[in-house]
Amino acid sequence: MSMFGQVYVKDNKYRIKGDFHHLTPNVPIRNADEGWKLMGVTNPRDMTYIHSYGGEAQFFEALGEGKLLGTRCDNPDCEFKGTVYQPFRIHCADCLGKNTVFDMTKLAKTTATVHTFMVCERAGAFNTLDKPIKFVNIEFEGVDTILMSYLSVGDPEIGMKLLPIFQTKNPTCTILDLSWVPAGTKAEELPEGFTF
Ligand SMILES: [Zn+2]
Repeated sequence: MSMFGQVYVKDNKYRIKGDFHHLTPNVPIRNADEGWKLMGVTNPRDMTYIHSYGGEAQFFEALGEGKLLGTRCDNPDCEFKGTVYQPFRIHCADCLGKNTVFDMTKLAKTTATVHTFMVCERAGAFNTLDKPIKFVNIEFEGVDTILMSYLSVGDPEIGMKLLPIFQTKNPTCTILDLSWVPAGTKAEELPEGFTF
């Protein structure tokens, strides 16, 4: 069993199991230049945060099944009816109505191109991506927003055609289950666990 707390939902309530924090003894901080005089203490902290996906859960579930879901405003009273969102948005930014979810995997496979990109040599805390991280901003035909994701193979170029790849073997159920490769990349070049 995991040393971390685990959660499931039953009867519309979180059911939690295990330890959500660990008591770890503190350690004194001493000054080597002043006879090891006490300067303070470390306070180790380790906790498990329960992050609810709410209405976006279906988006993350679909990634592990090799599908990219987008949303669209179909509200006839919306001034901008027909707006298509990727990244996935539950509600229309203009009318606040509930959007329609649709499968845009095929659209992504045929029309994804690099709008712009950014290569980062260093990452922030807790980042698990390989460095340098090749962030790509992706545009799709008929989609009104730009998706930020990361390129797993090759080097990005503006206008480059991309294909989505999905971590379908042991998905993490996070946005990292979605990545991109240049069109023409072979299946054997994909990172471990990813499929087209
Ligand atoms: Zn709307």
